[in-house]
Amino acid sequence: MEPLIVETPPVGASQVLLHAERRVGADMERWRSAGGGAAVARAMQDPAAIREEVRLAELRGLGGSGFPAWRKWEAVAAEAPKPGKYLIVNGNEDEPGTFKDRLLLEETPFQVIEGAVVTALAVGANRVMFYINPDLTRSLAAMKAALKQWHSSEFPVQTSAALGMPLELVLLPGSGHYIGGEETASLEWVEGRFPFPRGKPPYPAQSGVHGCPTLINNVETLANVPHIAVQGAAWFRALGKAPGTGTKLYSLSGDVLYPGVFELPMGTPLRELIFTHGGGLLSGKPPKAVFTGGPSSTLLTAADLDVAMDFDSLRARGANLGTGAMIVISEGTGIVKRVAEYERFFAHSSCGQCNSCKVGTATMSRLLDRIDTGRGTAADLTTLENLCAMLPGSGRCHLINGAVQLLDSAFHHFHDEFKQALR
Ligand code: SF4
Repeated sequence: MEPLIVETPPVGASQVLLHAERRVGADMERWRSAGGGAAVARAMQDPAAIREEVRLAELRGLGGSGFPAWRKWEAVAAEAPKPGKYLIVNGNEDEPGTFKDRLLLEETPFQVIEGAVVTALAVGANRVMFYINPDLTRSLAAMKAALKQWHSSEFPVQTSAALGMPLELVLLPGSGHYIGGEETASLEWVEGRFPFPRGKPPYPAQSGVHGCPTLINNVETLANVPHIAVQGAAWFRALGKAPGTGTKLYSLSGDVLYPGVFELPMGTPLRELIFTHGGGLLSGKPPKAVFTGGPSSTLLTAADLDVAMDFDSLRARGANLGTGAMIVISEGTGIVKRVAEYERFFAHSSCGQCNSCKVGTATMSRLLDRIDTGRGTAADLTTLENLCAMLPGSGRCHLINGAVQLLDSAFHHFHDEFKQALR
């Protein structure tokens, strides 16, 4: 099996470099000829060894949290079935600037299915829910076709026998709400209700879907699992640039010549992504800022372009890798307008069950729109600064923190622009 990293010369617009040898679409025979199925065979023989490889590989949650995957795995594996256990494959990707999971689902559906089945065997889960944003119609179609072939193959009988109970795979379109991607919100949707985030504890590992132990992992996280299971932790670690391990799918967009999804070593410098793979800026101007991890994150400026894009290096700069979305804006682009647009997104996406979030995001959005259209006052700016101090941690989930983090970071780097935009 070829390594999953690929050479990345400057590429044409929308060229996508994924886990290359598994880009066979919903074609089971081609997936088998590319080495597909070997990881399932290994997991059926020794599920505990898979958990150990994932721990040694230092695989992180690639949906944005960066939380060590093995910790969640061990927590679910340690629980007894009540009477079963669930694995939710989180494909609710909906954040502006993030478009990596949809490509994995469309172009490597069997790799995602194999990663989920190997994970289910490793933690003892008997129900796997592929929970996918309903707007990703091509992803849903590819998964539907791939699951049909899976169910007609020998795998369901073999994996159920290895697990000791029927291993069911279910395709479940999500609600279409951004907040549905929050992990406790996904539990609500799977149980048939609107995806309102739940309070924690209890954590899903102890009490998730219908009270059963539930593991929730992002699509990209699980797509790495078959490779780790077969090639081993040392191979996977060596793909990354330390302290990063493995590879990362970066979604590059904004003012770049070649936007797209790029699979690169975890820890690739931001400058390399923008100028080598993204072809530089479309406008020909110098970069002014980059929204790292999409809007629910922080801004980096032109002075930060040499930062390594891994969870720890970005955190050391006060930023987040998040989903790996990098939205580039160039000199001459107004920050206020861009931040106002994203805050409108947060206000629209708030589920409304926490007053601080419902009112806070709506107020931030309204005041930013006012400032952006030249109607803002110094008092509006002060109110926004006060909200940045008051709101973090006041909601049940991280949406409110993301909304504040973005504005706080924009104030930190570009406060003068907000002052200049006042009436
Ligand atoms: S913080 Fe906002 S999005 Fe999260 S649960 Fe509360 S109201 Fe809903």
